[in-house]
Amino acid sequence: MDNKTTSFDPHHGHYEHPENSSEYTGLTVNSGVSQPPCVNPYMKPRRRRTFTPAELVEGILKGDVTMLSRAVTLVESVAPEHQAMAREVIEKCLPYSGNSRRIGITGVPGAGKSTSIDVFGLHVLRDGGKLAVLAIDPSSERTKGSILGDKTRMEKLSQHPEAFIRPSPSAGSLGGVARKTRETIILCEAAGYNNVFVETVGVGQSETAVHSMVDFFMLIQIAGAGDELQGIKRGIMEMADGIVINKADGDNVDRARLAQAQFKSALQLLPAPPSGWQPEVLCYSGYYEIGIDEVWDMIDRYFQFITDNGFFERQRREQARYWMYETIDSELRRRFYDDPDRAAALSNAERLVLSNRLSPFTAALKLLGEK
Ligand code: GDP
Repeated sequence: MDNKTTSFDPHHGHYEHPENSSEYTGLTVNSGVSQPPCVNPYMKPRRRRTFTPAELVEGILKGDVTMLSRAVTLVESVAPEHQAMAREVIEKCLPYSGNSRRIGITGVPGAGKSTSIDVFGLHVLRDGGKLAVLAIDPSSERTKGSILGDKTRMEKLSQHPEAFIRPSPSAGSLGGVARKTRETIILCEAAGYNNVFVETVGVGQSETAVHSMVDFFMLIQIAGAGDELQGIKRGIMEMADGIVINKADGDNVDRARLAQAQFKSALQLLPAPPSGWQPEVLCYSGYYEIGIDEVWDMIDRYFQFITDNGFFERQRREQARYWMYETIDSELRRRFYDDPDRAAALSNAERLVLSNRLSPFTAALKLLGEK
């Protein structure tokens, strides 16, 4: 590119930059440099190939991680054509799914979920097999920032060749996010992942969603100053198959033991869970790797117990039913509200209801197409 600072343009007969004439001093205007079409002209443009559902399924069944990731991306996409492809892939993978231990892990931020998953993950991989770590993170939907999204939180596991870590899908409602995670479980299982962890932040609604897709639900707690039971919702305790008290190390051991006793007696007051399994409360330290064997021994015993008494199968069937109705509910709602003709009808009805000219019930039924 030639640099015409004070260039006289012979074609147009005037200075390209009149500011550069002797009239103006202390100012030089340089010509702009046009953007090169490509920084490296030898680089071939790389286009991501799109794979057909059949190719994706073939890759997934071979355990190809790239193909698995691509399929999960389709599952997470909101584009209708992607969703159609994702459905096809899921249907074809379904016969090969179901063969994993699905473990839900919850706990408030700071309870030590990532530290623990790192250690628990390596523990299960010791005996071979594969592990998928998925997450449902309600914060990512509200704030667009994710508490669980960062892979590097699980330092050792993220480098393990048999571990597949996928942050939470972020688009849509909690129900939508949870459904995507559930579908991702199916794909991971078809790809040979025989252990699946689903992590969530222990702050409310998301536990129910995770509980409805796992076999074992683990609640990670930390010992506080005698107020362990405060702030944890009874509903979450009722869902837990095991409560594990983390950070039982150093000066904290006594407090952790106290918390253990308190949780044990609190559990006594809850109704017996449908599995027939009496939830256990254990202390451990994820950071110092103390008590990890005991936690996994409990999980092994649990799986043996629910396999023997038939609860494992029963719960999986119940969960499939739950997801069918859950999907019907969310799809009905989506179709109702997404209908472009409905917006005007809705605001009209709303106006009539607000001015007391129509009852909310009649308005609703009319909108739903009933007379
Ligand atoms: P998360 O937010 O639940 O994923 O929690 P993290 O795993 O990020 O842990 C939060 C903090 O607690 C970090 O500073 C960890 O180093 C610390 N931590 C985690 N596990 C333990 C433990 O077993 N003992 C102690 N003393 N600290 C721990």
